[in-house]
Amino acid sequence: PGGFLSVRDLQVTFSTEDGPVRAVDGLSFDVDRGRTLGIVGESGSGKSVTNLTVLGLHDPLFTTVDGEIVLDGKELITATEKELEKLRGNRVAMIFQDPLTALSPFYTIGRQIAEPYRKHTGASKKAAWERAVEMLGKVGIPHPAERARDYPHQFSGGMRQRAMIAMALVCDPDLLIADEPTTALDVTVQAQILDLLKDLQREFGTAIVFITHDLGVIADMADDIMVMYAGRAVERGTVDEVLRAPRHPYTWGLLNSMPRLDSDLATPLSPIPGTPPSLLTPPSGCRFHPRCAFRDRVGGGRCATESPAPAPGHRFSACHLGAAQQRTIFADEIRPR
Ligand code: SF4
Ligand code: MG
Repeated sequence: PGGFLSVRDLQVTFSTEDGPVRAVDGLSFDVDRGRTLGIVGESGSGKSVTNLTVLGLHDPLFTTVDGEIVLDGKELITATEKELEKLRGNRVAMIFQDPLTALSPFYTIGRQIAEPYRKHTGASKKAAWERAVEMLGKVGIPHPAERARDYPHQFSGGMRQRAMIAMALVCDPDLLIADEPTTALDVTVQAQILDLLKDLQREFGTAIVFITHDLGVIADMADDIMVMYAGRAVERGTVDEVLRAPRHPYTWGLLNSMPRLDSDLATPLSPIPGTPPSLLTPPSGCRFHPRCAFRDRVGGGRCATESPAPAPGHRFSACHLGAAQQRTIFADEIRPR
């Protein structure tokens, strides 16, 4: 039995001029109603690809998708474009970092929020317009009744971002996919938007997939976390498990490159040395091994030859280090830094 959204062994392969690129390689996760799954990773980790695939927004000519994506009992990989389109407007919504990908320059902001609402609820033009104004107010646009008549170019970047969020939320989606939605906003607006998403979730039981590289935002928003590296999940657990007792060396690196969430100590920040691998020629064995400071603690050179499988179950770390060894290293070497 999976969650409201259930993804099993997802494989996404792009054909490129240089050969096939497996952008997502064997990913499984669940998101229940009323819960938020935070997906964290550097760019190129596959976190955005995963979500475009869930929405059927990948390019079918150059992309092969295998595995299972089931939303509320409906298989999406085999769904028709028409079925997906209906789903995207109504039950599933998304917000991106760049609002101009979602907003048309040719229509007023109010109309762009009112139209999908009208289409999906059958509301009158007037009721839909009122709803659009209400949504603009909810996302913190001042004088929403007047500003609804503006075109996107008359809005500042932050206001466009809020308008896109209003547009995504106007139909009360069951599943919201948010890909770095607040990254470009200042801290105050970011906090308002995150509060808004939490309110919506409480009110409507929305399932949220929240993609970000910002662990502070994840700590605030998510119930569960999945850490991705080079197309694979390397660690998963509840927010507390992953942020308080992280087990995977890559997660340690991510946490060390962020200001500490729980302390006012001046912590020197140490980014993970090296860069994420090319997915055209991913490293053998554990994909993190070229950058991992702990690979020599695993016997027999296993890290370079044997790929650590993500264990079944909610809490896992795909790493050859044993759980006890991970706890000791974290307590003695990572945490005190
Ligand atoms: Fe590091 Fe080996 Fe664990 Fe990969 S499997 S994270 S290389 S210790
Ligand atoms: Mg991205």
